[in-house]
Amino acid sequence: MNIEILRIGQRVLRDDRVTTHVALVARAFGASKIYMNEINPDIRDTINQINTTWGGKFEIEFITDWKNVINSKKNTSKIIHLTMYGENINEIQNDIQKEKEVLIVVGAEKVPRDAYDKADYNVSIGNQPHSEISALAILLDRIQNGVQFEKKFENSKRVIIPSKNGKNVI
Ligand code: SAM
Repeated sequence: MNIEILRIGQRVLRDDRVTTHVALVARAFGASKIYMNEINPDIRDTINQINTTWGGKFEIEFITDWKNVINSKKNTSKIIHLTMYGENINEIQNDIQKEKEVLIVVGAEKVPRDAYDKADYNVSIGNQPHSEISALAILLDRIQNGVQFEKKFENSKRVIIPSKNGKNVI
């Protein structure tokens, strides 16, 4: 499954740390790209630095209009919008696992109504409010059944050898 992420919505105060963590989760949990409208070059530098050290080709693209991204993907990808008001992930994960290309939409504080209407799936990770970071991580794990953690990140400077006691990095 090819997975891309679209982060939308307005915050009263921009929160670069949360945005960076959404991107880090997307990369580490097997997505290929993130689109975002919180334009801070430091976030791109951080992600590029992580790619250089830890490998892979995860992409980040700054956008001005999130609807253009959805419209351009509508014919090739299924649009999955993460919202606490959506269908329970337990009910819908088997269907999503069969998809080949998905664009996962995560919000910030306020999500426009259009996001719900344009989605093929509105999905909740429980029906309590929590965070886009946790919602994204759980969705990515459920729809890939853990295989994302077998993925090789090519051309890395460092590789971790899992260890029972201590750090083993080559
Ligand atoms: N009222 C918002 C909502 O509709 O989910 C909560 C805003 S929350 C600070 C920011 C983002 O986290 C949401 O836009 C959504 O993508 C994600 N999120 C938070 N709780 C969630 C949940 N229980 N299920 C799915 N996504 C959730």
